Amino acid sequence: MKTAIVIGGGPAGLMAADELSRVGAEVIVIEGKPSLGRKFLMAGKSGLNLTMDEVLSDFTSRYEDAEPWLRPMLDAFGPQQVMSFANNLEQEVFTGSSGRVFPKAMKASPFLRAWIKKLIQQGVTIRTKWLWSGWDEDVLVFETPEGLQALKTDAVVFALGGSSWSRLGSDGAWAKAFTDQGIDLALFAPSNAGIVAEWSAHMQPHFGTALKAVAFRSGPCTSRGEAIISKHGLEGSGIYSVSNGVREGHALYVDLKPDWALHRVEAALSKSRGKSSFSNHLRRALKLQKHELALLNECAYPLPQAPNECARIIKNLKLHNASLRPMDEAISTSGGVTQAALDEHLMLLNKTGTFCAGEMLDWEAPTGGYLLTACFATGRTAGRGAARYLGLTPAP
Ligand SMILES: Cc1cc2nc3c(=O)[nH]c(=O)nc-3n(C[C@H](O)[C@H](O)[C@H](O)COP(=O)(O)OP(=O)(O)OC[C@H]3O[C@@H](n4cnc5c(N)ncnc54)[C@H](O)[C@@H]3O)c2cc1C
Repeated sequence: MKTAIVIGGGPAGLMAADELSRVGAEVIVIEGKPSLGRKFLMAGKSGLNLTMDEVLSDFTSRYEDAEPWLRPMLDAFGPQQVMSFANNLEQEVFTGSSGRVFPKAMKASPFLRAWIKKLIQQGVTIRTKWLWSGWDEDVLVFETPEGLQALKTDAVVFALGGSSWSRLGSDGAWAKAFTDQGIDLALFAPSNAGIVAEWSAHMQPHFGTALKAVAFRSGPCTSRGEAIISKHGLEGSGIYSVSNGVREGHALYVDLKPDWALHRVEAALSKSRGKSSFSNHLRRALKLQKHELALLNECAYPLPQAPNECARIIKNLKLHNASLRPMDEAISTSGGVTQAALDEHLMLLNKTGTFCAGEMLDWEAPTGGYLLTACFATGRTAGRGAARYLGLTPAP
């Protein structure tokens, strides 16, 4: 029987193991942590957004520069296939109003349990607390509780994750062994990261409050999603979507009235305010909430009272000195194994029989299910590539 080792027990690795085991390869999944899928489980903490139910061309466009590379893999395993896959694991899904697709259970643990059960039924062996530390010629070397172990195999799929949330195992430490082998890597950078803002004490009462009906903009990136005001700054899907703009050095702006044109804001502010304070006038005329007013004062104090000037600020509120939270806190990272290092089956050009998948590849995408879908799709491609390499016919 042909043997394959999958290193990394996140969604990309499990998908590769699934593809290989269902066509009869003898598969060992090796994971450095004591259990599988820790980052995947974390992704489920605030609702496991598996994919996005939208037209495929809209969906693939969200991978931007990496779209031409990932497109064939997403054509074969995109949102519809992710939904069917979840249903086959008896994890019923639903589509939220924004098109986001979640399992009904919302969290990742039932999904992961069902998947691991399926893999075990397909004959997959799982080894945990085995940390891959590099190659010794063509032998894979692992640090294990029983000391160093060396394994040789017919094919290997690496799915080691990116470089954020190191406590869950995704520490990017694998990059050194890859670089030493001359494998082309792009530097890691935070993607979908929170924003640092040094708030004054005035913002404290608003920590934990969500900015909802606002828009964010940074360079070419725009977003209408939600962001939570935290003691560190801003976090949440709305801000993650524009974090790449901040990463590239652009300023961050908030539009507090995105559904109102500038002249409408100006006209509302031009109305008589009677005996109201300017602050009350702003609140009533623009229906601004307390935390939105606080943000306005925090970023643009003292506010000009001339309606045209004030309106312009409300629609272009600049967050001074906005920067990114540390990479280890980012939802995902860009960088990793480049397309140039791989063939179309995700096999390393300079290491035949060695495949790579998931977030360890050099692509990035917004949150909203795009990350997991590409992890599944690339895991599938690498698993099928490895099966073909072993002389097996990938499952239909
Ligand atoms: C808070 C949070 C919320 C998220 N929410 C969503 C969401 O709703 N939707 C979405 O699409 N994405 C979401 N993501 C992103 C998603 O979880 C990741 O993109 C995805 O888990 C990456 O899958 P992967 O298999 O490539 O890598 P990982 O899940 O990172 O798995 C890699 C595995 O490899 C193991 N490993 C690493 N190095 C070694 C080694 N040397 N030896 C052995 N094992 C090793 C790690 O321990 C890890 O288990 C979220 C992430 C976070 C942190």
